[in-house]
Amino acid sequence: MRELRLKARAKINLTLDVTGKREDGYHLIKSIMQTVSLYDGIYMKRIRKNEIIIKNSLPWLPTDNRNLAYKAAELMKERFDITEGVYIEIDKRIPVAAGLAGGSADCAAVLVGMNRLFGLGLSMKELEHLAFLLGSDIPYCVQRGTMLSEGVGEILTPVKCACPMCYVVLAKLPVSVSTAMVYSGLDWKGLKNHPDTEGMIQAMAEKDITKMGGLLANVLETVTIPMYPKIAQIKEEMARLGAEGALMSGSGPTVFGLFKEEEDAKQAATSIRKKFGLKEVVATRIYHVNEGKRGEDGNG
Ligand code: ATP
Repeated sequence: MRELRLKARAKINLTLDVTGKREDGYHLIKSIMQTVSLYDGIYMKRIRKNEIIIKNSLPWLPTDNRNLAYKAAELMKERFDITEGVYIEIDKRIPVAAGLAGGSADCAAVLVGMNRLFGLGLSMKELEHLAFLLGSDIPYCVQRGTMLSEGVGEILTPVKCACPMCYVVLAKLPVSVSTAMVYSGLDWKGLKNHPDTEGMIQAMAEKDITKMGGLLANVLETVTIPMYPKIAQIKEEMARLGAEGALMSGSGPTVFGLFKEEEDAKQAATSIRKKFGLKEVVATRIYHVNEGKRGEDGNG
């Protein structure tokens, strides 16, 4: 295969709990992660010259080894003695440093893409192991779907009943949040409320979107919301506009709202964009991994 196109999809955290801290300083999490339809377009092509060329649609995003897509290509070339080069184009549509794992999704897509382009024959499990070398959300982005993520993100258990289809409004404040800074500011021992992870899994099994909305919870809000109180205002506005529930995704600052009807989600997106003067507001939906065409979307 000489060239291919992939869709690197964003994720939201329906619940995010922190249950401890490892000796190396990494926090132990328990989170239900869910893929949404919003994606970065990834085009990859083999080139004769032994180099990695990255082009992306955002001029300020690095194209060298600070870009996670570059790191993924570099790792695969080194591990598997690939002496040909690769050209990668990223059409960046997922907001950056937003809590939506956009960089991790690009990275995972390039791991998958290198596997296919160079006919490496690696299994999903092998790809996940390589992914974990590059970042804690990346194994999830290789797998995707509805997953319970534990440990530091490396223990992934598929949630049996997939998330029911619903519509998701993503609204990002024009600030970048550093994930490391948010975790270091978290008083995890002092947390009074923990998400009801099992309750959320049950609500998904019952396909009860209203119940799911009531159970959305993320302990990292205790750090990010005091820094950016507008996050709480956007959550309130989402609820006022008919969302079943709203929550900050990951370490923020993106807020997502869950809606039963597509039209309501679209109208809420328009209204929030206007009211808060935000540029990055997207109406998207839950993405089920088995709906994608293998080849363009399948990660296997
Ligand atoms: P997570 O939810 O995994 O913490 P995030 O959505 O908060 O991720 P990203 O969009 O992945 O954050 O970006 C985090 C940082 O990674 C940014 O500061 C950016 O400069 C860097 N980065 C490296 N490669 C990429 C990429 N391909 N796309 C976006 N950001 C990238």
